[in-house]
Order: sequence, then structure tokens, then C-alpha cells
Amino acid sequence: MHDAPLDMRMDKESDITAEYVVNNYSEDEIAKVISDYGEELWAKRIAKFIVEERRRKPIKTTFELVDIIKKAIPASKRRTGPHPAKRTFQAIRIEVNEELKGLGDAVVDFVDVMNPGGRIAIITFHSLEDRIVKNTYKKLEDPCTCPKNLPCTCGKKPIIKIVTKKPIVPNEDEIRVNPRSRSAKLRVAEKLLF
Ligand SMILES: [Zn+2]
Repeated sequence: MHDAPLDMRMDKESDITAEYVVNNYSEDEIAKVISDYGEELWAKRIAKFIVEERRRKPIKTTFELVDIIKKAIPASKRRTGPHPAKRTFQAIRIEVNEELKGLGDAVVDFVDVMNPGGRIAIITFHSLEDRIVKNTYKKLEDPCTCPKNLPCTCGKKPIIKIVTKKPIVPNEDEIRVNPRSRSAKLRVAEKLLF
């Protein structure tokens, strides 16, 4: 309805915004979000137009995104019905807010019930999910919330040690026999002994 930064976060502490999604997800990922959560028939075309546009310059505002969506949907198809950008905006909002929270909390819960010395290994198939796993591991490895230039007073101690500094990804042979492994990322962490 009005021009604004592409944010859409309910939780302003979260670092995934709508701007992050449209400027960093792959074309396939954007199409999947728009199709799965927006049930938009033109998802693939909208994703293609988004990726073409962001090559020129990053997409920063809601009106910029609306213009791209309008260009992607043929004029004859958008004369009737709700605003043409409605489904896409709904999809991105769901992506930015819901998935996030559940996954990050689940990783914390898994670690909570593990035995000391136990290992957690998570495979994700989506850049957003991988980012959440990575950031949640980091928080568990270094939960201290004190300013880094001051001595720690919060008393929060590391809970895990990250085993895979970089995610383990499939090699070309594996991708050849199992194309769906292409986007897989595996991250492992070990619960510390107290
Ligand atoms: Zn601290």
C-alpha cells in the first residue's frame, strides 16, 4: 500500500528480512517460496524477473518489488482480482517469519536433550535453513551476550563446539547420481562435557 524498506519481520531481532530473501536466494528458491507459500501461478516468472532486476541493482523497497511483480505477470491476467503482488508478498512474509523461528528453536531443543559429548548433524536443503542452523550453532558455541571488549559478566558458558567450520556439501559425483543433493549442506556440532 505504501513504499517502505523491504523488511516484513515480526521479530526485529531476526536478521533475515524480505530484502535478504529477494536479493540472496537463488532463482529456484525464490520461485519455490512464492509457489509454496503464495500459491502463485506466476512464481517462476516472478522469480526470474526478480533475479534479472537485482543483477542491475539490489531491490530495496516494497514499490520496487511491486513493479517487478507487475512486469512479470502478463497484463491480461492482472486486470481482475486482488492486487497482483498480494500472493508474492504473503509468501515472502511467511518465509521471513515462520520457518525461521521453528527451526532455530528446534536446534536449541535438540541440543538440550543430547548427552554431553553427543553430536548433532543437520542437513538442510535451503540457504535460509542453513543460515539459521549456522547462526543457532554459533549462539550455542558462544552464548555470552556481554560486549566483546569487556570481561564477561553474564556467566553464560559455551554449550557446544562446532565441528564443521564450513558446511559439508556433496561432491560432483554425488550430485550426478542424486541431483536433489545439490543444495544440501551438513553442519555438525558436539555437546560439551561439563
Ligand atoms: Zn558474558
